[in-house]
Amino acid sequence: MKAMELFAFIGEGERPDQPQRVGLKQGLTAAGMIPLVVMDFDRHKLEREGLVAQMQTQANTFGKTIRLARFLYIEDVLVLEPKPNIPTVHVLVGGVPLCGFWPGVPADWPPGHIWIGLSERATPPPEGHVMCEKCDVAANLIESIGMPRQ
Ligand SMILES: [Zn+2]
Repeated sequence: MKAMELFAFIGEGERPDQPQRVGLKQGLTAAGMIPLVVMDFDRHKLEREGLVAQMQTQANTFGKTIRLARFLYIEDVLVLEPKPNIPTVHVLVGGVPLCGFWPGVPADWPPGHIWIGLSERATPPPEGHVMCEKCDVAANLIESIGMPRQ
């Protein structure tokens, strides 16, 4: 991965109950209230007069210092690599998977995901499929406490 630079406005929180808590500042942009972070090639967006004025007003109002910080990329953090798509069996209750992996109905699910009902869990998954661990945990919980009446 090519080296990249990330720029962000950071500063202390304004809330008196969270002293010394530093985080990303937000700013009102055409896209709404967003965290003020950009890649190097879009840095001019953070330095536009409107955003700098917003940050200055915030610094004056709350007496907190705000910095435009540059972060250098190093590959020393959590790395998420694509995993092979293993066909997975989910438990469907009320038309949705218990794990919540997808918000829509099964017809809208990505390929490789199938479902069973709560009562079908004793049957082993079809060849090449694995049981969704989150659905399994949730189904075990439901069976141990009993399904709430709807
Ligand atoms: Zn699942």
